[in-house]
Amino acid sequence: MINDKNSQKIVDFIQNWARKHSIWVLAYGTGCGAIEIPPTMTSRYDAERLGVRGAATPRQADVLLITGYLTVKTLKRVIRVYEQMQDPKYVIGFGSCTINGGMYYDSYNTIKVLDKYLPVDVYINGCMPRPEAVLSGFAQLQKRIAEGRANGAKQYKENLEWYRANQKKIIPNWVMPEYNW
Ligand code: SF4
Repeated sequence: MINDKNSQKIVDFIQNWARKHSIWVLAYGTGCGAIEIPPTMTSRYDAERLGVRGAATPRQADVLLITGYLTVKTLKRVIRVYEQMQDPKYVIGFGSCTINGGMYYDSYNTIKVLDKYLPVDVYINGCMPRPEAVLSGFAQLQKRIAEGRANGAKQYKENLEWYRANQKKIIPNWVMPEYNW
């Protein structure tokens, strides 16, 4: 941390600029929308030219991309993956199912509103969103990072009790590691 306010602003600007152009994505292919990821990442839409590329593990990833509905059973794994990611980290909710349950809004076995359980920085709406919409979602995230407004991870830490209470309502017999933030 730098004491001089102006110097800190310059450091923040450079850090956010670098983060914006280096987005490593862990795609958690939970729903049918995952089928739009291959064309987004390969030569037709070529997301890598924007600095967006796949990551192999949570520790290497900056973005957790949740591609559609989340079942009750899967939620536990997704939370665990998110908590293993290092800062700075972001979440993108992909498809209507992550926003309001989508076509599974009355299913007994899916969660309806993703940001009750994880902090979502950007939603991409549609069922299913096309690669153009996915690229637009990444552009939106990059804008928020550059402006220092992609602070979902900070909110998660600050409101951990609220998130934990929601998570535990869905996951019975909670046996999860407590991560040292
Ligand atoms: S939003 Fe549509 S495409 Fe995406 S997971 Fe839900 S039903 Fe499937």
